[in-house]
Amino acid sequence: MRGTSYIELSRSAAENNFAYLRELVGANTTISHVVKGNAYGHGISTYLPLALELGAKHFSTFDAQEAFLVHRAIEGQGNIMVMGMVEDEELEWAIEHGIEFFVFDQQRLENAIRIAKKLKVKALIHVELETGMNRTGFGKDEFDQVIRLIQANPDALLVKGFCTHYAGAESFANFFRVKTQYQRFKKSVKLFNKSGIESEILHAACSAGAVRFPKSRFDLVRIGIMQYGFWPSTETYIEKIKPKGMDNEDPLRRVISWKSRVMNVKTVKQGEYVGYGMSYLAASEIKVATVPVGYGHGFSRSLSNTGRALVRGNRVSVIGTVNMNLMLLDVTPLDNVEKGDEVVLIGNQGDLSISVSSFGDFSDQLNYELLTRLPRDIPRSVID
Ligand SMILES: *Cc1c(COP(=O)(O)O)cnc(C)c1O
Repeated sequence: MRGTSYIELSRSAAENNFAYLRELVGANTTISHVVKGNAYGHGISTYLPLALELGAKHFSTFDAQEAFLVHRAIEGQGNIMVMGMVEDEELEWAIEHGIEFFVFDQQRLENAIRIAKKLKVKALIHVELETGMNRTGFGKDEFDQVIRLIQANPDALLVKGFCTHYAGAESFANFFRVKTQYQRFKKSVKLFNKSGIESEILHAACSAGAVRFPKSRFDLVRIGIMQYGFWPSTETYIEKIKPKGMDNEDPLRRVISWKSRVMNVKTVKQGEYVGYGMSYLAASEIKVATVPVGYGHGFSRSLSNTGRALVRGNRVSVIGTVNMNLMLLDVTPLDNVEKGDEVVLIGNQGDLSISVSSFGDFSDQLNYELLTRLPRDIPRSVID
């Protein structure tokens, strides 16, 4: 089975992005490649071997299930860190396999200690500190208890890191909030250090933090979106790249392309409606190409009558409503469109390109959302 559309990952684009990120953060900061959300839709089993090949050594996931998939994909070559959910039943697997994980509540800390003692293997923990995001992380009122638990269990725990997460480093509007978080983080770490609890590393920055708050890079940055060739926000891109000259090019390159093929072509007479309902009326005779990709495949219904695709080197419009499994393109101006012609939904064809963000602007989705909604069952492969 080949599926009705397919995704290609560009090795050279990923290589370019890895090199840019390395130059950005310098030689002494570890880059943890954030691969939650099925590697931002790129596909864990396809992206991970590529990332490894290009030198990635540290990976972050949201949950233990993803960590399991990454563990299988990298076969022991590199560190894995779970930033979010680990069920109590999954802790044993994580500790046994040297999977690092955030701890942000005492219960998880106590469970980790109990299981580590049972297994006689140290749990590798990152103590997450609350600094202002108010999502997860130990608050000041819990520090004493956490310190006591760590001090009492040196055989069960290895404190790999202290960490925190910024509440929106990609937007200037949050500048003071993030700066305050940075200061609180440093203060809180000092409190732990004073009690004799040191960590191997400190980390706080996501992509936007790494770009906009260089001091907050510490020993490791958790880079998600930028490794795939996207900026966390337009604002971050403009601030970083454009001051050097308005015609400066984007140093990042999109890794993902999403393509399909024309399934059917037909002529529609003037005055006829196209597709469900009455959202598109043929004002003159038109030629319509059907593409077997719909909202059920991650092509948002809000792209009805507004989306674009590339066919035979031309930009063409989505007409009518996007169906569950199909969309219709107006290919009237194109000569000889045929069944089987390549249709680019994201990516390049000839001199033209459709970016994820142009797509996102139309459908009011963030890059992050659009990418991670790409279904897992679309076949993915690596190209040069
Ligand atoms: C998703 C996530 C990141 C990566 O964010 P990007 O903006 O994609 O770089 C870093 N840290 C945590 C805790 C995250 O959840």
